[in-house]
Amino acid sequence: MKRVLSGIQPSGQLTLGNYIGAIQNFVKLQETHECFFMVVDLHAITVPQDPADLREQTESVAALFIAAGIDPAKASVFAQSHVPAHAELGWLMTTLANMGELERMTQFKDKSEGKDSVGAGLFVYPTLMAADILVYNADLVPVGDDQKQHLELTRDLAQRFNHRYGDYFTVPEPYIPKVGARIMSLDDASKKMSKSNPNEGSAIKLLDPPDVIRKKISRATTDSGREVRYNPAEKPEVSNLMSIYAHCSGMSLDEIEAKYEGQMYGAFKKDLAEHVVAKLAPLQDKYNEIRSSGTIHDILKQGADKVSAIADRTVRDVKERMGFLMPR
Ligand code: ATP
Ligand code: MG
Repeated sequence: MKRVLSGIQPSGQLTLGNYIGAIQNFVKLQETHECFFMVVDLHAITVPQDPADLREQTESVAALFIAAGIDPAKASVFAQSHVPAHAELGWLMTTLANMGELERMTQFKDKSEGKDSVGAGLFVYPTLMAADILVYNADLVPVGDDQKQHLELTRDLAQRFNHRYGDYFTVPEPYIPKVGARIMSLDDASKKMSKSNPNEGSAIKLLDPPDVIRKKISRATTDSGREVRYNPAEKPEVSNLMSIYAHCSGMSLDEIEAKYEGQMYGAFKKDLAEHVVAKLAPLQDKYNEIRSSGTIHDILKQGADKVSAIADRTVRDVKERMGFLMPR
């Protein structure tokens, strides 16, 4: 059975972009693959996090995984920091990477843009991500389009290691949805929707109450035209809303165009909001149930216990190959 690994940062409340770009695929893949889904808390601290918020968000992301349909009996769900092998292999991978290749990463450029002080962790983030994947020798990594470049680097690092120290790592493949791989911000369709964007109106959060969802969608930026037509180059805002509509309603883009022919954006946006509200309602109910049941800690512990042996084994093998004196 092929192995799948992916993670989400507890760097804020999850967005519809995280759901459509990543979590939906996690739920599908658990039926056919051996899956590892983690809350990547070590990645979240590459930008400053309030300690209490970090703890709360970590639990919240794990609960949302389960609420979205990830079944801990089928997939291992755990927190990255509960498996120390990630950080250890992360360091080993950092020493394999070059400054030049890290400098080319667009996420680093985007997240450091305009900041006076940029943490070194943000710069080496992709080497820890490579370790997350390689530590389990994952075959497939379901991610949104924004992570494609980091995955390329992971592949390069795996190949570099295999070349220097002998074939060991599986070179992983990305698994990116055909539609919805990059949901854009509601207030600026040139930027992807991001949970860490401080502008509240930019993202629909999975736990937003219905009225907040309605308000955010009614205020979402659109062009000055009136045609509901899918054309990301000419009509990026409307096209983005149509992608969200398609995902939440199950309708195709053509069907949506036909439904709103001759109508203005108002009717389209109103219906869109109701589709999003309806899509998120069961997830929110399940989330509240899970949080009040207090089972998340146990799920995370079981997950970490299950995967630790694999991760520890990889680190031992890698260290041995790299020439570390192994303790006897
Ligand atoms: P942050 O702003 O803290 O980086 P984020 O919203 O980008 O948060 P991540 O935890 O970095 O979320 O990414 C989790 C997963 O969600 C990744 O697979 C990423 O590719 C995917 N993803 C993130 N944003 C989007 C988006 N706008 N559209 C589709 N997929 C997305
Ligand atoms: Mg991100």
